[in-house]
Amino acid sequence: MRSPRRCSRNGCPRQAVATLTYVYNESTAVVGPLAAFAEPHTYDLCEPHARSLTAPRGWDVVRHEGEFEPPPPTTDDLVALAEAVREAARPVAPRPPENDETLNTAPQTGRRGHLRVIPPTH
Ligand SMILES: [Zn+2]
Repeated sequence: MRSPRRCSRNGCPRQAVATLTYVYNESTAVVGPLAAFAEPHTYDLCEPHARSLTAPRGWDVVRHEGEFEPPPPTTDDLVALAEAVREAARPVAPRPPENDETLNTAPQTGRRGHLRVIPPTH
């Protein structure tokens, strides 16, 4: 099961859309699409942080050009569970009558062809 990944920057609540990888032997920081698996020397970044990343002195930055695709939405089990509980606790509402049906089966009111049926007055 996957859980939504967050930007690894301190205090950043945004969803990660990119992965920063430090290639130490080439002194290169690579900002690419979100990696499927977290590996050593990789850091998930949100889009603003991915775009604003600057390399340490003496390092190059290789940045993925183009859009960072957010990962597909994941089913949050907690949300699903909460929905299920709410569903179970909800009283079963009577099904409202459908308006069209009411008009067709109730001859007291409404139009029938070119004649207007007048409800009886008391
Ligand atoms: Zn961030």
